[in-house]
Amino acid sequence: MAVSVRDTASRYRGRFAPSPSGPLHNGSLLAAMASYLDAKAHGGQWLLRIEDIDMPRVAPGADRIIMQQLLALGMQWDAEPLWQSKRLPRYQHVFEQLLAQDRIYGCACTRQQLPPDGRYPGTCHALRLPAHQARSWRFRVPPGTECFEDRWQGPRHQDVQAEAGDFIIRRADGYWAYQFVVVIDDGDQGISDIVRGADLLDSTARQRVLARALGYRCPRVMHVPLLCDATGRKLSKQNHAAAMDLSAPVATLNHAWQALGFEALSVCDINAFWRAATPRWAARFGILQTCRRDSA
Ligand code: GLU
Repeated sequence: MAVSVRDTASRYRGRFAPSPSGPLHNGSLLAAMASYLDAKAHGGQWLLRIEDIDMPRVAPGADRIIMQQLLALGMQWDAEPLWQSKRLPRYQHVFEQLLAQDRIYGCACTRQQLPPDGRYPGTCHALRLPAHQARSWRFRVPPGTECFEDRWQGPRHQDVQAEAGDFIIRRADGYWAYQFVVVIDDGDQGISDIVRGADLLDSTARQRVLARALGYRCPRVMHVPLLCDATGRKLSKQNHAAAMDLSAPVATLNHAWQALGFEALSVCDINAFWRAATPRWAARFGILQTCRRDSA
């Protein structure tokens, strides 16, 4: 059956999901820009989700600064932003569902007891510990290899049980794990496409296994390259990357655009930048552009 461009466009939902541990820097701009362009090139929606439940890392006020930075660069989200901190009852509900289905279990292992390779050997898998003895909670990973196509990185596969083992969904400090909440949010928000930094490529197989267990469709994925500093380290807030320069927004946008492998655009303002960048993005990824607004 033929699928019309309009149908495809109305189904595309992308998102940018920053952790508000500080202002955006040039590295996080790459993920924001790529996800925004991919949504616009598809004629789809671009949502903003503030991933603010890792309380030890949250910087008060950083969410507002991030929103101002995005708007200053012309990236306007298409629906009310979502704050993960407002969704704690939802995460608890899903946790209880998984518990009732015996798909998760309490784990009493301390960090020192775990092997250094990061794979959980399943020590508490069969113990059925009472809740008060659980430090963290883990998802029972089913056996099998997870295969998917990454739109930037190409075909990927991972045997999650062999390489990661049963992974944590609730941490020993009581906070929900990133892997758990990101899957619930992407599922509940109907995200069709995830575009984010390549540092999260390794999480994708785990997220797909969990998404399927929760009855969600797995979104398509694209993991874009990371920006590194002069010493080759990923630019990140932990490495004290400087906030973006908003005094010259077109230059800041062009810097990220070039890091994504494109030629700098000679444009006079941010609106002209997005007008020029969107069809180039679409052409590079073979995206059929929807009708122009004025001819719709
Ligand atoms: N909150 C994550 C970060 O800032 C991104 C999560 C995601 O895109 O899945 O690194």
